[in-house]
Amino acid sequence: MKKIVGIGIDLGGTTIKYALGDSTGTIIKQGQLSTNANAHNNVILDQIAKAVRELITFAGGNGLKPAVIGIGTPGCVDIRQGFLKGSTPNFRHWKQVAIGEEISNRVHIPVFVDNDANLMALGEAKYGAGIGHANIICLTIGTGIGGGIIINGDLYRGSNYAGAELGHMSIKYDGIKCRCGGRGCLEKYSSATAMIEFYRKSTAKLGLPRRQEQLTVKEMFREARDGNAAAIETIDKATYFLGRGIASLMNIFNPTCIIIGGGVAEAGRQYLDKVEATAFKYAMQPSVEQTKIVKAKLGNSAGYMGALAFAFNQLK
Ligand SMILES: [Zn+2]
Repeated sequence: MKKIVGIGIDLGGTTIKYALGDSTGTIIKQGQLSTNANAHNNVILDQIAKAVRELITFAGGNGLKPAVIGIGTPGCVDIRQGFLKGSTPNFRHWKQVAIGEEISNRVHIPVFVDNDANLMALGEAKYGAGIGHANIICLTIGTGIGGGIIINGDLYRGSNYAGAELGHMSIKYDGIKCRCGGRGCLEKYSSATAMIEFYRKSTAKLGLPRRQEQLTVKEMFREARDGNAAAIETIDKATYFLGRGIASLMNIFNPTCIIIGGGVAEAGRQYLDKVEATAFKYAMQPSVEQTKIVKAKLGNSAGYMGALAFAFNQLK
């Protein structure tokens, strides 16, 4: 029997990551193109189509023809239509776009579209750190906090595709104002952006010398190990709030696996141990007994791996 292959695409603010793979998650070819988040929609759509054509050509050279395309994009997506409904903070014009229709008209292959954080969660669930688990919560900690919820092996999206905004769960009812309109959202306390801001404030408060350049979260962990009080305070605060948020998620969803990905999770087990200590302290006991908190496995490929998984699911 001829091997069935598909294309997975992860659209980001600076790059499009794409891959040709089969339904077992074996990647045959992958690539990356730059995107300009300020460009008009047709420019972005053409760039996606260019990535697809490159993979179609490669597949053809190996006697293969992609049967389906999955695309992950920031924003709220009506997955039945492949339609991007709302706007996305990083892209200037990218809203109200019939992504599925536009791409399938360009390349003549069925296209399925979903939110990028959802597809990262699906990628990790199917091919990464969540293998073997049916109920999973996935958190991606970067400049913001994205989330995905897997219930009985399927993504939970909410009734208007707007659910699973785990970064906008309030962990402090009178806390910092958020761009979403809420207050005390998790991403205002535990994202990389929040950590860098806390560090700056803490450095000033403690009267420590200010650095010329902005430090990364990884450097912050190194500084904490070297005894920098501002770094220690920042990490304690960010991991505490994340742990409190995760405790709530454990009480609500009772997952067996919580996957933490994104740049901040690269700080490693030391970071996860601190998050876990708070989460397990505040969550209800029956959930603690069976829940694992683990680092994501797929790194930057989670998005296109999830897009592939999603696309193959639609073929069934
Ligand atoms: Zn918010």
